[in-house]
Amino acid sequence: MCGIFGAVLPPGGGTSAADVAALGLFALQHRGQESAGLAVSDGEQIMLYKDLGMISSVLDERRLPSLRGELAIAHCRYSTTGSSVWENAQPTFRLGPRRAIAIGHNGNLVNTRQLLAELPGGRARLPASTDSELMTAMLADEPAVDTVDALMRVLPRIRGAYSLVVLDERRVIGVRDPFGFRPLVVGRLQTGDRGDGLWTDDPSHTGWVLASETAGLDIVGAEYVRDVAPGELVILEQGRDPRYVRFAPATPALCVFELIYFARPDSYMEGRNLYEARRRMGMQLALEHPIEADLVMPVPDTGAPAAAGFAEAARLPYREGLVRNRYTGRTFIQPSQTMRQRGVTIKLNPLREVVRGKRLAVVDDSIVRGTTTKQIVELLRKAGAAEVHLRISAPPIYHPCFYGIDTQIETELIASTHSEDEIRDFVGADSLGYLSIQGVLAALDLPYDRFCFACFDGRYPEPVPYDASSRKFMLEELPVATRG
Ligand code: SF4
Repeated sequence: MCGIFGAVLPPGGGTSAADVAALGLFALQHRGQESAGLAVSDGEQIMLYKDLGMISSVLDERRLPSLRGELAIAHCRYSTTGSSVWENAQPTFRLGPRRAIAIGHNGNLVNTRQLLAELPGGRARLPASTDSELMTAMLADEPAVDTVDALMRVLPRIRGAYSLVVLDERRVIGVRDPFGFRPLVVGRLQTGDRGDGLWTDDPSHTGWVLASETAGLDIVGAEYVRDVAPGELVILEQGRDPRYVRFAPATPALCVFELIYFARPDSYMEGRNLYEARRRMGMQLALEHPIEADLVMPVPDTGAPAAAGFAEAARLPYREGLVRNRYTGRTFIQPSQTMRQRGVTIKLNPLREVVRGKRLAVVDDSIVRGTTTKQIVELLRKAGAAEVHLRISAPPIYHPCFYGIDTQIETELIASTHSEDEIRDFVGADSLGYLSIQGVLAALDLPYDRFCFACFDGRYPEPVPYDASSRKFMLEELPVATRG
């Protein structure tokens, strides 16, 4: 995951790019809650601020006024390479012989070890232990004078998942890998008030923004222009329209999990509103796994659209049987197992009046390790549920993701070591049904070859080495003396 945002505002408009980027990042908080950061340029110099914690505690009103400039990038982190420590927060920053450069990265590289071996000075030169830091060092080192030229030389050497916002002194550049594993969209931001409550469309008042999701455009009032295409970069400069440059042929494989679960329901991907897409997945799930129940309830909040669709198709009442404490993070993306285990009781409380004595169809969007699901079933039974029938609006996750989701090894994934009956027994449900891959595609009304489904079917679009080079803490485990 990770959320990224970029902004280039018109010159002399008086609006702070740091304010716009921080606001845009707020809409992407669900994509990463370990750290947040912002880099700004005033046209001559880049300033950076980042820290561990939620966006609101890192980028607060005391900090933002000191980050002056009309160009900015921002990042919130969910770790897939390296520990959750300050050094690994982003944006990364590096002052090279040719350029100063800051980067926000969403995704995970699969040839980190090889790239590290090629980096002059090796691991000892990296202040942090992330693949993003390694990419930044490669770009800063690149002898080409122009940042776009440097990118054109470096990107073909990089393999894996990367959506990037890159900041040099004069430009913000958005980049999406040839598979387009992670999303990235461009928006137009009108900043000049015509005086009648509407914005002027005068180009001198036009700014440009980049965001992981369209919800990031909405929050700053930007209009969606288009996706950055897989294998493409977009150059945003003051006073110019965006320039799109292809650096590799596109072989699209957007992470289907973005549509099933990760991205916000009010975002759009592949022309689909994600609330609607998930509601249709729930309808499809009801067709594939019908059940006699008294009511349908979601595991909040992310299971809600699919539960609504399930109830609609099954002609059953929809109720909320669990109340979510809104002021804690998402269980799945907190880094340690201990936190995950404590997470569910901190986050969810059953509504006894709703569930007592009832046969429940409980709809969730995934089972990863199974521990959270087991606790939810226990909570519902303790609250008096007569039966708990689990319905999952995604297929079973058999394989780890190497492209930016923190399910590093197969043994962490319950579906890779247990049959569906064993999973049902482990979580304590009366029945269990998963949506099929065909069902996901039917709900989306899109073809298979637009997406990555690798964690469901093992068909990795980009070959992944099953060795240490793709492990999360790889850069930390190499001793400094022998690194590189
Ligand atoms: Fe998404 Fe799964 Fe592919 Fe990873 S392996 S990019 S989570 S579909």
